[in-house]
Amino acid sequence: MDSTLSDGAARASAGSAVYFDGQSSRRRPVTIALKERLEISEDGLVLAAWDYADIRRADCPPGILRLSCLSAPALARLEIRDTAFAVDLASRCDKIDKDRVDGRGVAKIVGWSLAATASIAAMVLFAVPFAADRLAPLIPESFERRLGDAAEMQVKSVFSAQACNDVAGQAAFSKLVNALRRSAGLDTSVQAVVLATDVPNAFALPGGKVYLFNGLLVKAQAPDEIAGVLAHELGHLKHRDNTRVLIYNGGTSFLIGLLFGDVTGSGAAIFAARSLVTSSYSRDAETNADTFSIDVMHALGRPTKPMGELMFRVTGKQGDDGLSILASHPLTEDRLKRMGDEDRPASGPPLLTAKEWASLKGICGTR
Ligand SMILES: [Zn+2]
Repeated sequence: MDSTLSDGAARASAGSAVYFDGQSSRRRPVTIALKERLEISEDGLVLAAWDYADIRRADCPPGILRLSCLSAPALARLEIRDTAFAVDLASRCDKIDKDRVDGRGVAKIVGWSLAATASIAAMVLFAVPFAADRLAPLIPESFERRLGDAAEMQVKSVFSAQACNDVAGQAAFSKLVNALRRSAGLDTSVQAVVLATDVPNAFALPGGKVYLFNGLLVKAQAPDEIAGVLAHELGHLKHRDNTRVLIYNGGTSFLIGLLFGDVTGSGAAIFAARSLVTSSYSRDAETNADTFSIDVMHALGRPTKPMGELMFRVTGKQGDDGLSILASHPLTEDRLKRMGDEDRPASGPPLLTAKEWASLKGICGTR
């Protein structure tokens, strides 16, 4: 995370804006230089310099980025209309939406973030849905890994969650993931982590990162339930659906980042992380990930129905808070039926012993 900040600070760029100094109502056309601090100049004279950490987003109509600054006069505002420059600038201000989200729930944070970025995104996004399908397969793995690393930080901060690391639980989890990974034909770059959050979810990030939230583990009653879900996530990884979703949803910042080499900048990463947790995969992507999961479970001689049962259990008890596994992986009756239809009696050894399963359930110390 620190490296992204220093990257941003090291690379100066400039653009134009309208400045209201907070003392008069005069509109002043100014030049903005993004240096160590954000410098506001008029006719070559520096009027003010704002620390990125003090910059906050102010309410404004779509298509404009309006900013205030904690250390400037209360009514001082900057207005930026150039989308590319606005995205670059916003990506350097890591607390830009901080005051908007204090005291609100995670779902609200996500909502705010999406609403705030949607207006910028909408302006230049027309071509992106078409580009996403074509771009995803072309993105090199090393680049996906960088994206995944950047997004991971944001995922952890959005959910204020630590990785669970009970030793016995971790050993059981690794055993389960490795069995699935081998059967799925994926290499050892796959990294799976259990995060200590009550949200019932699981998802994958580009570059081979699979997350299981403890909330889903708590609701699970058997290893095959979790195995099916993890195999489904491996399917999304294998098909690069997460990269596709990221391009689709993070379109503007992603493409601009791609052009300017600032993809690990916080703006792009925040967008990526949140959109990966809250956006639905397409119906086709879900069907394909299910097919993948079913094939993996068949190859291991394990039943496919438990995954459906787990997801159904989550729907039954959890209202749609926009963050559960059902938000990103909509469970249709077709999907549920298929997991039942494809079910076969177990013909392979259990993926975990009873003891290992108990250890896995206790990986976050919640046994
Ligand atoms: Zn899915």
